[in-house]
Amino acid sequence: MDRLSKEQRHRNMAAIHNKGTKPEVMVRKFLFSRGFRYRINHHQLPGKPDIVLRKYNTCIFINGCFWHGHDGCKYFVIPKTRTEFWHAKIERNKERDSENKQQLASMGWHCITIWECQLKSKVREVTLESLLYTLSLIFLKNHQSKSYEQLEDSSLMVAEP
Ligand SMILES: [Zn+2]
Repeated sequence: MDRLSKEQRHRNMAAIHNKGTKPEVMVRKFLFSRGFRYRINHHQLPGKPDIVLRKYNTCIFINGCFWHGHDGCKYFVIPKTRTEFWHAKIERNKERDSENKQQLASMGWHCITIWECQLKSKVREVTLESLLYTLSLIFLKNHQSKSYEQLEDSSLMVAEP
């Protein structure tokens, strides 16, 4: 896994730490540097996920804390003016998000949501490392269920006369 040269690693970290990089670009660069290959803004999929990892059956959404209403987050503050309007708008967005995720799940996709506040420079590395961890768990899960099916098939064959 860790076959990167020191220089490469430095460049990766520089990409991750680059200020002013859009959050979704940052996550894409990170995944690319770790050998993941993906599609972006997959228009046929509900909610147009920011990153689609087909091999992992996984969609990643990078959500702005305000527009997607990150509960309990200090970056999600409803403006003092036109409060009702904003409240209704954000609620609609949240409903749409959860509908999209339910739809994706029913199509067999895993969904990962990363909030923009989780990509602020102080917490970014932890977030990205835990993303890798989650992806490896998903990979194992997909892989395990597949080999389990194969196992079942072969035992059936043995049982047959
Ligand atoms: Zn947040």
